[in-house]
Amino acid sequence: MKKIAILGSTGSIGTQTLDVVRSNGDIEVLGISAGKNIEKLEEQIREFSPKLAAVWDEEKARELAVRTKDTNTRILAGMDGLLELASMEGTEILVTAIVGMLGIRPTIEAIRAGKDIALANKETLVTAGHLIMPMAKEYGVRILPVDSEHSAIFQALNGESRKEIHKLLITASGGPFRGKKRKDLEKATLQDTLKHPNWVMGQKITVDSATLVNKGLEVMEARWLFDVTLDQIQVVVQPQSVIHSMVEFEDGGIIAQLGTPDMRLPIQYALYYPHRRYLEGERLDFAKLGSITFEEPDMETFLGLPMAIRAAEEGGSMPTVFNASNELAVKKFLQQKIGFLDIYEIIGQSMERHKKIENPDLDEILAVENETYQWIESRW
Ligand code: NDP
Repeated sequence: MKKIAILGSTGSIGTQTLDVVRSNGDIEVLGISAGKNIEKLEEQIREFSPKLAAVWDEEKARELAVRTKDTNTRILAGMDGLLELASMEGTEILVTAIVGMLGIRPTIEAIRAGKDIALANKETLVTAGHLIMPMAKEYGVRILPVDSEHSAIFQALNGESRKEIHKLLITASGGPFRGKKRKDLEKATLQDTLKHPNWVMGQKITVDSATLVNKGLEVMEARWLFDVTLDQIQVVVQPQSVIHSMVEFEDGGIIAQLGTPDMRLPIQYALYYPHRRYLEGERLDFAKLGSITFEEPDMETFLGLPMAIRAAEEGGSMPTVFNASNELAVKKFLQQKIGFLDIYEIIGQSMERHKKIENPDLDEILAVENETYQWIESRW
């Protein structure tokens, strides 16, 4: 039996991880967690009987403890709860399916406890990749990508020498507003933004896909995961979302990974790496698909990508400002307090005013996050 814990088990990646657990039958889930959705967490406790379940919201944690007192699951609360879950005894892998840079501390805690990380939570690598990657090496743990693009690259690199990578080609669907121009986006509604053409995901990443911030975060994530320079990463729009990403090698040969858009594949690949298992579901039918098309990303309209590249080029604490300002801007957009284009405005202004810290440590990263939030709150 493989033993895992899941940070964010009630979300899109978390529930699909549990689908993979259900369909395989040889994975034991020892720990699960949620922000506040205790109804779903209770269902998961009753189905999977984990040893620990952590809830961020402390009042909800108390409520859950009362509701589940007939079970053997111990309920934890707040950040301390997430940290205990991340480093709990007996697990081999921590699936980081939590949303946002809140995932940094539990990820670090898990690495220190020697757990492999099945990483969906890209915000952690974006802001603290310079701390996480050397730490993973030091503690001998593997960072196994769950993001479909990074999993595709990871799969394409199987048996290859990373020294022979010429470039990484990260594919993008283009999101729900592909082909639109800036003036079309002035009145983009929340409803339109949440209609992703190919993937069903959590709300934050769905908005990030529409702004192309998600692609920017993925470029930064790829740079840390595969130890390449920014110049070695190219984003290619591939609207059908069947090529999940590609690697071009020194000799010009390109290896791509293809499949239907289904996150269970990269999740399962990370959990069983380097082995593959049968996965039920729709298979790619090339005759039905007809064609696969490619475009350049529209960097003039979708500023999320060029702003992310700028933040990555500047480095230091700038990616934290990019990420934190986006997290708060998306939250405000989801609450319908700001418009779609204001997301770019908030990120741009936050980066503009920031005085970069070179090589920030964890405390500095968290302080920059906090300070960015406060500055935005005082203006929007
Ligand atoms: P969801 O919003 O669907 O789920 C987020 C999870 O995190 C939920 O379990 C949620 O709990 C929990 N959570 C939220 N806030 C807190 C908090 N303050 N403390 C503790 N837990 C919290 O997100 P996704 O599953 O879509 O995304 C998760 C991560 O995976 C993100 O980093 C995303 O970028 C990445 N990713 C997602 C993909 C996808 O297909 N969805 C694809 C590739 C990467 P609750 O239910 O209580 O709110």
